[in-house]
Amino acid sequence: MQSPAAPLLFPLFLDLRRRRVLVVGGGSVAARKIEALLEAGADIALVAPALDAALRDLVRAGRITHLAPAFAPAQLDAAWLVVAATDDARVNRAVSEAAQARRIWANVVDDAELASAQLPARVQRGPLQIAISSGGAAPMLARHLREQLEAQLDESLGALAQLLADMRGRIRALLPELGERRAFFRRVLAGSAQSLLRRGDADAARRNVEAELHATTPARRGRVALVGAGPGDPGLLTLRALRLLNEADVILHDRLVSDEVLALARRDATRIEVGKRLGGNHHATQQRIHALMIELAQAGKHVVRLKGGDPFVFGRGGEELEALRERGIDYEVVPGITAAVACAAHAGIPLTHRDHAQSLRLLTAHARDGEASHDWAALAQPGQTLAFYMGVSGLEQLRDNLVGHGLAASTPFALVENGSRPQQRVVAGTLAELPALARLHGVQAPALLIVGEVAALAPRLHWFGAAPLTADDARCRRLPRAA
Ligand code: SAH
Repeated sequence: MQSPAAPLLFPLFLDLRRRRVLVVGGGSVAARKIEALLEAGADIALVAPALDAALRDLVRAGRITHLAPAFAPAQLDAAWLVVAATDDARVNRAVSEAAQARRIWANVVDDAELASAQLPARVQRGPLQIAISSGGAAPMLARHLREQLEAQLDESLGALAQLLADMRGRIRALLPELGERRAFFRRVLAGSAQSLLRRGDADAARRNVEAELHATTPARRGRVALVGAGPGDPGLLTLRALRLLNEADVILHDRLVSDEVLALARRDATRIEVGKRLGGNHHATQQRIHALMIELAQAGKHVVRLKGGDPFVFGRGGEELEALRERGIDYEVVPGITAAVACAAHAGIPLTHRDHAQSLRLLTAHARDGEASHDWAALAQPGQTLAFYMGVSGLEQLRDNLVGHGLAASTPFALVENGSRPQQRVVAGTLAELPALARLHGVQAPALLIVGEVAALAPRLHWFGAAPLTADDARCRRLPRAA
């Protein structure tokens, strides 16, 4: 037998300010509804024999009125809307029937049959709201859609809606034609206003929108977002990174950025790999990247400069910003999960486990010209965790430097190759055996080296991919090199 078709409900946004809403029920469900109703400025009268602590607080603070312990139809006389949120089906039915008789809209929680009004799933950004309903047919689907929209819609939309509301009168006066207004809105959306609002610079955003209001030619300003792509697993991108990838005209990405992350970008965005390969001339490459970013932004493009991990951790993000600033090009920076953090998490290494380490150092194994010149004596101090980036070659030298300056040769290490990616491998042992083990297992870039007592926790706490490879594995069987 087919179930009856879900009704097609009429969507309606109510101005509830200072209008009475009767809520029947004093539990947590009622409390959630009341929270939303209060946001809309409703005058709430509550009917319930007993109240949740949160509701008692609201009554005490004078924000809602506790009208009576039991429902009586006459309580509806002053109300515009009623919400029945009790777990007693008879009370809910009585409320529904009394409301029906008085032609007052009634929402009955979890009972589409008894309800003449349903509350939608909603996404809110300031004054901007999206309400979703399936007419009660598939509330899970509505909720799913809401979650997707939550992830996709930028928080700055609310501030933008407010800003446009503030300027509404002037916009209409200056641009009386609908066509002009549409063109103006398109310019605002394509321009920098949202990115300025994300940065918390409401004044600059207002000036930007003002400028568009007076612009005769739709001059689109280009800009660059320096975005951290995290270690490779697309689940570790930030929502902001995802949104920017969806808006980008051009994506300049490093070689380190995974295909899975790039697959999330706008389909018709131009993708350019600008990665530096080992042995190349880093300075020349970096200059080319700067020139390309500037050229694209000056041509009005929205550029995403996508970098592995975090753009400010061994990412040369600083130099790129300086180049942009010099040319007066708009930019913003979106942090990403840096390799040390991602690799530690995926290898089961609590970087600052308090029994073992009181500090964490992010280090590079290579400086501009070859080997890094660290204060090795300081690095050899106990009670800290060292995370070395770019350290696949020169492990022998690194070990010798640390041990030579007093760090015990028995100090544990973990070398994490392709951290957080499906092909992740972890090699674990003691400093003494570090170069030999890395060689034996054929560890390749990208790999991150963690040195310190916490590294010894990996064999016990690992959860992602295979267990760490140790000297024992090496003795038992030769492992195939990573593809
Ligand atoms: N900005 C990046 C680091 C760039 S330097 C970040 O914040 O992570 C490049 C080095 O990062 C690599 O040589 C390697 O040491 C490390 N790295 C980046 N991604 C990695 C990954 N998925 N697994 C292991 N190491 C990684």
